[in-house]
Amino acid sequence: MEQTVIVVGGGVIGLLTARELALAGRDVTVLERNRLGRESSWAGGGILSPLYPWRYPESVNVIAGYGPAAYRRLAEELAEYGDFQYQQTGMMILDTGEIDEARTWAAQDSQRILNLIDQEQARALQPGLQGLEQRAIWMNSLAHVRNPRLLKALVPCLRDRGVRLLENTPVKNFRSVAGGVVVETARGERVADKVVVCAGAWSGDLLKRSGINLPVQPVKGQMLVFEPAPGLVKTMVMKNGRYLIPRRDGRTLIGSTLEQEDYDKTTTSEAMKSLRQSAIDMIPAIADLKIEHHWAGLRPGTPDGVPYIGEHPEIPGLYVNAGQFRNGLVMAPGSARLAADLVLGRDPVFAPEPYQLS
Ligand SMILES: Cc1cc2nc3c(=O)[nH]c(=O)nc-3n(C[C@H](O)[C@H](O)[C@H](O)COP(=O)(O)OP(=O)(O)OC[C@H]3O[C@@H](n4cnc5c(N)ncnc54)[C@H](O)[C@@H]3O)c2cc1C
Repeated sequence: MEQTVIVVGGGVIGLLTARELALAGRDVTVLERNRLGRESSWAGGGILSPLYPWRYPESVNVIAGYGPAAYRRLAEELAEYGDFQYQQTGMMILDTGEIDEARTWAAQDSQRILNLIDQEQARALQPGLQGLEQRAIWMNSLAHVRNPRLLKALVPCLRDRGVRLLENTPVKNFRSVAGGVVVETARGERVADKVVVCAGAWSGDLLKRSGINLPVQPVKGQMLVFEPAPGLVKTMVMKNGRYLIPRRDGRTLIGSTLEQEDYDKTTTSEAMKSLRQSAIDMIPAIADLKIEHHWAGLRPGTPDGVPYIGEHPEIPGLYVNAGQFRNGLVMAPGSARLAADLVLGRDPVFAPEPYQLS
């Protein structure tokens, strides 16, 4: 009989996990507390690389490294459902205090392309730059996607693949039964052969009652988008942890704050001023642009950014795929593939040890 799988959480991690399992012929149901794809995965910037990737453990970079090519393939698969605008604009990093670390990181893998450029080269790539030091780091191959459009295209694609997508279905707890797992929801109980928890920032709280203490905490991030100014911002630019992302229609995003505030998603005028100023500090002409939107999302924070992907130590058949923190968009395809490999008993695409729950 076809094996049944329930995925808890309809963000990018849950939806791509559901896709992998459906592609493998499983009967998949996604249970989403509110609406699909409206939390962190919607709020993020969509950069397909960790920021300053050399600051992260290899276990993060390995999964992140799987992302860009997977998104290029996904763009073709989802073309009939919408264009999520995979754009390889490159990224310029204006702060250069970690050049040695960056070079060491790049030397470990031929896919990691990084060059040092001088001020003239930097201004040729991105006119109107301010705040340049003698040199800048140029990462030509870095891309970004328009994540709300990715989610919008994924949902109908999954439906067409036979995945059941149930909104307004909060999951409360889990327990073992012979050969499967019972999922207790606000709308009754469901049983499946396997269950994967992809509940983002809420995963730690949700799993508390199941007997594990997963250190996944919400970390708020605020962002702004400026009105379109076609041609003004050509590449992603980053300085002091703040980054500009140019969308195809001429809009520019600036992100982001890092705030530990429980589940509060309120935006603040301090953050707005500070983000706007960071944007102007990189490209002064942004001062003339109106802010169109200001929003916040809750990242699934973990102590060092390494997600939890693996089986629950006490409930067989219950798996977790959560805690991608600041890198959940770029890590989603690789995390989904690893989670599906473990659920299906396939050879795992990455060594699973760094992500185990215990
Ligand atoms: C401002 C900001 C900028 C970012 N920029 C980037 C970036 O440029 N690149 C990048 O790679 N990453 C970025 N991120 C991080 C990335 O967005 C997240 O790591 C990623 O979206 C996490 O995906 P997720 O599916 O785990 O979580 P979410 O998208 O939050 O989805 C979790 C889902 O689970 C549901 N849920 C929770 N509890 C339950 C329950 N009990 N029952 C049923 N459903 C439940 C929620 O409603 C939600 O829909 C950014 C994040 C923020 C906030």
